[in-house]
Amino acid sequence: MTATRYDVVIIGAGPAGAAASRRLVQGGMKTLLIEKYKLPRRKMCSGLLSRWTVDFVHRHFGPMPETVYTETPFLKGFGFNFPSLSETVLAPTKNPLPYVRRDRFDCFLAQGSGAEIKDGVRLTGIEQEKDGFKILCSRLRKDGKTTRVTFRARYAVAADGMNSRAVRCVMPDAQRGMPVTTGMQKFYRAEIDLDPDYFHLVFHPNVGFFPWVNMKGERVVVGVSGLEHRKAIRYYDSFVALLEEKFGLKIKEVLREEAMAGYMMAYLNHFVLGQGNFLVAGDAAGFIHGAEGISAALVSGDLAAQAILQADELDSKAVGLYRKCVRPEVDRCLDNLNPLRMSQNAPMLVDGKALRAKQSLKSARLIYEDLKAFAAQDIGLKETGMGKVAKQNMIHYLFHRSYPVDL
Ligand SMILES: Cc1cc2nc3c(=O)[nH]c(=O)nc-3n(C[C@H](O)[C@H](O)[C@H](O)COP(=O)(O)OP(=O)(O)OC[C@H]3O[C@@H](n4cnc5c(N)ncnc54)[C@H](O)[C@@H]3O)c2cc1C
Repeated sequence: MTATRYDVVIIGAGPAGAAASRRLVQGGMKTLLIEKYKLPRRKMCSGLLSRWTVDFVHRHFGPMPETVYTETPFLKGFGFNFPSLSETVLAPTKNPLPYVRRDRFDCFLAQGSGAEIKDGVRLTGIEQEKDGFKILCSRLRKDGKTTRVTFRARYAVAADGMNSRAVRCVMPDAQRGMPVTTGMQKFYRAEIDLDPDYFHLVFHPNVGFFPWVNMKGERVVVGVSGLEHRKAIRYYDSFVALLEEKFGLKIKEVLREEAMAGYMMAYLNHFVLGQGNFLVAGDAAGFIHGAEGISAALVSGDLAAQAILQADELDSKAVGLYRKCVRPEVDRCLDNLNPLRMSQNAPMLVDGKALRAKQSLKSARLIYEDLKAFAAQDIGLKETGMGKVAKQNMIHYLFHRSYPVDL
């Protein structure tokens, strides 16, 4: 059987894939978007949208339907909890943060892209051919068996998330040596003494490098990230114990548990952009702003598509054009991992002035000491080299106003 031919096949119907699809369809490309799950599919994510995401979606996809919002449609900001302070430091953001259900939000984007969508189709391999790519997939049938399906395309975009199969197929060495992070979260029917209108970060020792609590309607979500799976489980247990002791967490029922693992590349100044006419966008490429990744996925997906459209006109390789146009996005990511720049460029802007005005000198000193102790604990910054790269980036930025990244 002959494989259907497309101009572009995009792997993964998350924000990066949807943004790339939309731009390519508008540019007149015959575009196929494949997704391994049936849409709408679940995605482990808090679902907070930054102002960049909101602007991008509004400009490119139009107003979001009300159905994409969670039971608590907006959050007021962040709650920071420190061992030395009995009170949570509430930091409102400049604008309320939309709080969405990723299954519905991503489906709205994918369908709004105008591309042909094939869901329930999993990429299994990519073969390079003289004039493009052979995209090998398996489709899950209703009877539980799988069928092989093949597509051909002149260009391919990997937008298949943190643990990209597409990248492994075409660039098997690109992720080698990169640290792997595990994120775990559980949804509870529970009570907790924390303000439900804020997303809480807890800077206590022994609970991983990103311990959080948020509330969605009646549900309390508790999550941690750790650099190894076993460590993440240990952090999770001690985090729950801490929440029980300090914030009166009373768990009545576990409603859902989820975990995911993927490469952390931006923390080591590593980005995988692709080769030839194979481009990589979103999480698969390493784009993340601290913990916010939806805007980076949208922007990089859109830029990858622009590079393809330009390459087609100029009859040149897309990756060279992508490298050039995506550079500001790379810098924006690294700004958000650079403590000297975070406060100016944060994707979810806290009203820093109002926050500082509320803190006494004594509590500001205690917060500083707590943050120092938090960063100094064994959360893998040293063994992975991430701590060293963060310091080098800060110094490099001070002198050159740029980052030492080789794209
Ligand atoms: C716990 C957690 C909380 C987060 N909270 C936030 C937040 O509040 N705000 C924010 O901005 N960011 C958040 N992020 C980050 C954000 O979720 C990601 O950065 C964003 O989803 C990246 O988009 P993407 O399109 O690159 O990849 P994804 O959204 O991961 O989409 C990739 C798609 O590819 C599909 N796929 C994978 N493999 C294949 C295959 N072999 N064949 C076909 N399809 C495939 C997947 O099913 C998926 O649909 C969070 C991340 C985590 C882990």
